Amino acid sequence: MSKQPKKLRLATVWLGGCSGCHMSFLDLDELLIELLEKVDIVYGPLVDTKQFPEDVDICLVEGAVTNVENLELAREIRTNSKIVISFGDCAVTGNVTSMRNRIPVKDLLTAVYHEAQAPIGAESLKILPALLKKALPLHQAIKVDVYLPGCPPAPNRIATAVTALLNNQPVDLQPEMRTFG
Ligand code: SF4
Repeated sequence: MSKQPKKLRLATVWLGGCSGCHMSFLDLDELLIELLEKVDIVYGPLVDTKQFPEDVDICLVEGAVTNVENLELAREIRTNSKIVISFGDCAVTGNVTSMRNRIPVKDLLTAVYHEAQAPIGAESLKILPALLKKALPLHQAIKVDVYLPGCPPAPNRIATAVTALLNNQPVDLQPEMRTFG
């Protein structure tokens, strides 16, 4: 009986983003079934793992690095992953998440938690991780191996990139797959 090839370990991470990139990942539809024959999803919103694991082969990171928890997790991802993909415009450029960068953090928190028409409430501030001065694209926090732009990246882009990596090939996106927005 032939031995099954070892499955790769895939992680997906949701930092400062809207989860739209993960929704696009789910839009791989039946391709997901083929993918799951080749990979184990070992971390991310789709599985219930609390701690980022060791020995991850491919990690898709959605969202910008916007608070101290994101930064800590990004460093953990880099230490434990062979290939890190900057997944979507927020990870690649900061995009929507970085729109707050022109506003000093203190003013931003005052506006949202104290002065808004429906303020969220100052109590919440005690449990929130501290915001970084600016929301950073992923590559400004850790080394990135592959950039996958799009808001969100269309499923065919995700499929192209992941398939190439599964086949041990470099990711070479066609120009129409390298657009933003
Ligand atoms: Fe959401 Fe777009 Fe950012 Fe993805 S790139 S997290 S879809 S805003």
